[in-house]
Amino acid sequence: MVEKPSFFEKVNTDFDRAARFTDYPRGLLEQIKICNSSCHFTFPLKRDDGTIATIHGWRAEHSHHKLPTKGGIRYSTLVDEDEIMALAALMTYKCAIVDVPFGGAKGGIQLDRSQYSESELERITRRYTYELIQKNYIGPGVDVPAPDFGTGETEMAWIFDTYATMAPDKLNAIACVTGKPIEQNGIHGRRGATGRGVVYGLEEVCNIEEDMKPLGLTTGLQGKSVVVQGFGNVGYHAAKFLMEVDARVIGIIEIDGAIHNPNGLDVEKVAAHRAETGSICEYPDAELIETPNAGLELACDILVPAALENQLTRENAPRIQANIIAEAANGPTTPAADAIFRKRGIMIIPDTYLNAGGVTVSYFEWLRNLSHVQLGRLGKRFEDSTQRTMLHAVERATGYQFSEDERQLIHGADEEDLVNSGLQDTMIRAYQELRETRMQHKNKNDDVDCRTAAFINAIHRIAQSYMQLGIFP
Ligand code: NAD
Repeated sequence: MVEKPSFFEKVNTDFDRAARFTDYPRGLLEQIKICNSSCHFTFPLKRDDGTIATIHGWRAEHSHHKLPTKGGIRYSTLVDEDEIMALAALMTYKCAIVDVPFGGAKGGIQLDRSQYSESELERITRRYTYELIQKNYIGPGVDVPAPDFGTGETEMAWIFDTYATMAPDKLNAIACVTGKPIEQNGIHGRRGATGRGVVYGLEEVCNIEEDMKPLGLTTGLQGKSVVVQGFGNVGYHAAKFLMEVDARVIGIIEIDGAIHNPNGLDVEKVAAHRAETGSICEYPDAELIETPNAGLELACDILVPAALENQLTRENAPRIQANIIAEAANGPTTPAADAIFRKRGIMIIPDTYLNAGGVTVSYFEWLRNLSHVQLGRLGKRFEDSTQRTMLHAVERATGYQFSEDERQLIHGADEEDLVNSGLQDTMIRAYQELRETRMQHKNKNDDVDCRTAAFINAIHRIAQSYMQLGIFP
């Protein structure tokens, strides 16, 4: 059962709760909150069997306070105007929270991709792009899509190719979409960026003793038990990077079943098993939980919903046994569940902050595309040689001989190093800002959780932007 209010109403309720702690004029707050434009279009698809299907697509640009607008494109049966406007709004606030200079947008096509052949999906994606071009909803300085639920690098490559064919400015056409394959001007590190950002964010959260103590947790991610829902782009990468920092991924939940091993699952082996069999369910080194949603109720330190919205509801919230809910998906917690978690003292790390790694690295890709230079390319060899010279100097001065392994560690930063370092810095800075806001309000006895603090920071940044435009006093 879908809980009221709708997704977009929920986002607006979160906005309103935060807006109470600011003193901007009502008109300015309304302007920030409203969706600036949205577009629903339909087109016919001649299917492989000769029948005709009608395809429904949407694109919403929530805020034009900064251009271009930016946001993913999803393929899902749940796509409708309300969902796309809600997700576009979340993009506006997310970009502001991590200080990425874009307005928010989102697009989607209402379909179950497993029901369409590869060639049908290509025709749908190209026609969708054509519609965006016709309606001026795409362009390097206008609106820049990216992958989201049900889409990936292949769809982004089709979008780029369709746009480039028709673009007047061929040189910068490559910046019309991000999340492209590396060979098509994508950036190293984008594929795993959202999951990696989730882990950088969690590391920062879990390093603060004052916040971990009330939850009964020690600091650090090492040894913490984690359950991940959704083993797609975000869920798989979050699980993989969590395992790399020695967290224990004890449960993975997919649409057709969940698996559990209290000693920890080997994430790469689970991924290999799924690639081979098409499912995680028969993975040998784990117990199968046949009702996937029961997996959400496993006892763990951190629950990472990384699938879709409205997964944690009034119905299951009282049975959730996690101390921290790390919202890797957009909108996984309904307002009723949110209220239950707050009452129960469960810490929620909100989507608007935690899954911002994707748009952050998309920003790096967009910059790289517009500058036409691969990050790190100009300086790498110079840095390599500076580091080698330093190493020799240390050897000469101390008599210590570095091993081959130690020598391997010393290299100039390549593109992925720079991307990851920029991403980590962004996630750390944004969390510090969020926490500072929370603490300031705590000192005034205001009821400000992480989600509200994140929204307050977003409102300040967007309001400043409108004021600089001279539109509001
Ligand atoms: P994806 O399509 O790559 O993966 C989604 C996975 O979730 C699939 O494996 C699917 O089978 C599974 N799934 C679907 N319904 C499920 C259910 N009820 N229970 C368990 N598993 C289920 O999508 P993604 O890109 O990983 O996106 C996941 C979430 O993260 C979405 O909310 C998306 O908006 C958000 N997000 C994605 C990005 C990105 O860069 N891709 C960035 C920010 C936020």
